[in-house]
Amino acid sequence: MATYSHSKLSTFSQCRYKYKLQYIDGVKIEGAESVEAFMGSRVHEALEKLYKDLKFQKLNSLKDLLKFYRDSWDKSWTDDIIIVKKDYSAKNYKLMGEKYLTDYYNNYAPFDQMTILGLETQDRLHLPDGNHYHVRMDKLGFKNGVYYVCDYKSNNRMKDQQEADEDRQLAMYSIWVKNTFKDAKKVVLLWHMLAFNKEVTSERTDAQLKKLQDDTMALIKEVEKAKEFPTKVTALCDYCSYKSICPAWKHDIELELKTAKEFKKDAGVKMVDEYSKLQLVKKNAEEKMEELKDEIILFAKQKGIEVVFGSNKKAAVREYLSVVLPEDKTKLIALLKKKGLYDVYSMICYSRLNSDAIKGEIDSDVDKMVDKEKGYRVSLSNRKEDD
Ligand code: SF4
Repeated sequence: MATYSHSKLSTFSQCRYKYKLQYIDGVKIEGAESVEAFMGSRVHEALEKLYKDLKFQKLNSLKDLLKFYRDSWDKSWTDDIIIVKKDYSAKNYKLMGEKYLTDYYNNYAPFDQMTILGLETQDRLHLPDGNHYHVRMDKLGFKNGVYYVCDYKSNNRMKDQQEADEDRQLAMYSIWVKNTFKDAKKVVLLWHMLAFNKEVTSERTDAQLKKLQDDTMALIKEVEKAKEFPTKVTALCDYCSYKSICPAWKHDIELELKTAKEFKKDAGVKMVDEYSKLQLVKKNAEEKMEELKDEIILFAKQKGIEVVFGSNKKAAVREYLSVVLPEDKTKLIALLKKKGLYDVYSMICYSRLNSDAIKGEIDSDVDKMVDKEKGYRVSLSNRKEDD
């Protein structure tokens, strides 16, 4: 039995190739942290210190807290930290973190909103399937019979209510809270959206938590039986520490190092440019052929002829009939079965069988009867989303 964490399961859902590199192969890429993650860690550290010191009756001033943050930033910063948004510098991000801390401090000082039960907790939720779920709360608080599972969010995107109500991470932690503290009848999930100086909260019923736990165990099962780990390119790739070794991006990264002249001479660039040119020619030709086909049919109809002659070829125009199946096929299927004709007219649904067999979701005897062969698809898309 294994321990799963929110980030492990999220990585699997985000990109299976990344999951394989990180959690199966244990590949480590030195200095591949994004500036956003770096800033988030420094802000978390400062808030942890703030509450830790409070336990010892030491209230840091805002000035002290910012000094701690700046010192930690300077000490931990390395030049290989990735800044994806090229219009902004490390200084901009450092200042953002300072603003988050300042707003938080001014909003919550003297920080007596709740009794703090835990900071950066490290626990495990025992799942009914025998696996464990890693529980790491930024802050666990208690006030007037209510437990608060708190998370600091330093990203620049406001969480809306629907997203909060569907969040897996804190809700799974709240199951641990309910299992651990027998008086925990009400648990509030609370996100401090630091960039907006706002709180977002959510609550779950026991039935919702049961469903969430079942869904999480189903996802774990999917992880455990996964055999294929394909890449999945999304906007999140820019923040992925494996981008430089990822087969979906390796060529692009090689090209970034080339001069404009070398770029144009690259064999891959030349082939893809030619391929995309030909694809456009093919698309235009196909559209033109459709138009011409309609014109030939019209010409033949108007002249009352069946064959239209060209210089070297002739085009035969023949009328044909085809059957249109009813939208609701239930009655037709029942009739075919009754007449003993179903096997004659039905056929194997190849796309369903193919998909189930590839995903390993097919009956094992059927699986043994079908062979699998490797093929390659080449599909073109824009280099950038907005191209
Ligand atoms: S760069 Fe994108 S596709 Fe490649 S491993 Fe990372 S998330 Fe997956």
